[in-house]
Amino acid sequence: MIIAIDGPAGAGKGTIAGYLALKFNFQYLDTGMLYRALAKAVIQANVDPALAPEEVIQIAQSITIEAAQDPDLRGEKVAAMASQVAVIPEARLLLNDLQRKFSHSIAAPYQGAILDGRDIGTVICPEAECKLFITARPEVRTQRRLLETQESSDLLATMSQQIAERDKRDSTRQIAPLTPAVDAIIIDTSDLTIDEACSKAAMYVTKCLSELKKSQKQSINH
Ligand code: C5P
Repeated sequence: MIIAIDGPAGAGKGTIAGYLALKFNFQYLDTGMLYRALAKAVIQANVDPALAPEEVIQIAQSITIEAAQDPDLRGEKVAAMASQVAVIPEARLLLNDLQRKFSHSIAAPYQGAILDGRDIGTVICPEAECKLFITARPEVRTQRRLLETQESSDLLATMSQQIAERDKRDSTRQIAPLTPAVDAIIIDTSDLTIDEACSKAAMYVTKCLSELKKSQKQSINH
């Protein structure tokens, strides 16, 4: 089974995805890390994506799935660049390939794949049996990002503006904009504790798993 999780920055996707992966024994890919890995390489090469998109595409060819493991990709500077390179269609196509290969490469003992990002339920895995869209109010997401990146609260206004810019760029881009799939359940985590948000998501995954088993049984009987 494939679980697709989408939503804006700081909504709690990663926390929920990690929890579900452990609880249900799924293999997890944080697809934002691929965009961040590309962004880091673009920053290091001193390339301006608006002026030289073809150089970004060339760099994107060297990104591998292992790049998603680099712990050095957190922070809003890399994130802001990630959302700039993410508007380049050919760069997206290269990263899409890695994500789709991952989603179809899962073997025992795992039950399936969980991917989180912006376009998993709509573009990468429209066939996913279980789709969640995790969201939260912008001010709550900003507070969480401040805590996560351990930035000082003096940076609240700056961080709030950076997240708003990223939300806007991610939701209004022409290709694969951030939007819930029509068949996704929407969970607003603004007023939920981590435990509450994770249990709500887990209840939904349990339902998806039991529906999948039911439909597999029916197709065997026919
Ligand atoms: O999820 P994270 O904040 O790490 O993502 C960084 C950026 O990568 C996002 O703001 C978005 O522009 C881009 N991204 C994307 N599609 C995905 C995952 C991330 O466009 N599936």
